[in-house]
Amino acid sequence: AEESRPQQQKHRVAIKGKDAPQAADTFAEMAERFSIPSQLLSNLAKYDYHHPTAIQSHCVPILMELRDLAAISPTGTGKTLSYLLPIIMSLKKPISHASEDDNSMGAGARAVILAPTKELAQQIHNECLKLCQGRKWRVVLFSKATANTLSDKKSRDRVDIIISTPLRLASFVTSKSIELDNVRHLVLDEADRMLDAEFLDQVQETITACTHPQLQKAVFSATLPAGAEKIALDMMRNPVRIVVGLKDT
Ligand code: ADP
Ligand code: MG
Repeated sequence: AEESRPQQQKHRVAIKGKDAPQAADTFAEMAERFSIPSQLLSNLAKYDYHHPTAIQSHCVPILMELRDLAAISPTGTGKTLSYLLPIIMSLKKPISHASEDDNSMGAGARAVILAPTKELAQQIHNECLKLCQGRKWRVVLFSKATANTLSDKKSRDRVDIIISTPLRLASFVTSKSIELDNVRHLVLDEADRMLDAEFLDQVQETITACTHPQLQKAVFSATLPAGAEKIALDMMRNPVRIVVGLKDT
């Protein structure tokens, strides 16, 4: 706890929200509080992730306690791991471990991450594959390149984590050719763009298709104009809002 203070001061962390969970200053503390799978811990070390960044220290506990979240932190501060770690930590078991006729987990992905460009979606996918190494997670990038392998609905539904641009996923949603009612974690990365006129309709169609009562919503951005922030907070329940560094409006 002592160590977090200089870091917090340096980054000017502002948190709003009822009973916001305490930050976890180290990956070891996260492992103690929330049980990080050992494979994930060793993957972090393998890729030289030794200490969580400020936004990760705050967001991992908030998301692990299943709170909705609006997180604003400058570019390069590690927002990607802030949402990937909790998703991987809380999903526990890859869907592919269930036998073909075991419907206990329901059909379809349990996490959806939307990003505004295919390059960004690709980067998130790469990062997610690194963290999932050694476990049988089905992490799927929805793109032109994967359209072939995703051509039948069954293969689209036998995934754990979907990473997509808004249009790719929305086109499956509007044609009712994907199951999203088992999604527990929905993340909008670069939320300022996702909640802007360009993507808002597609994003909202996808959110509407995520019908699970325990759906957690999180948005991440370097900047979040007031209008976009209001849209985000209005669709959340008891959210936590965190700003690291100066909010750039
Ligand atoms: P943002 O989305 O906030 O712009 P990224 O998630 O893309 O930031 O991370 C920026 C860079 O920092 C990436 O190269 C990533 O691998 C690296 N990084 C993220 N978290 C850590 C960490 N805990 N320790 C070391 N490097 C990290
Ligand atoms: Mg980013």
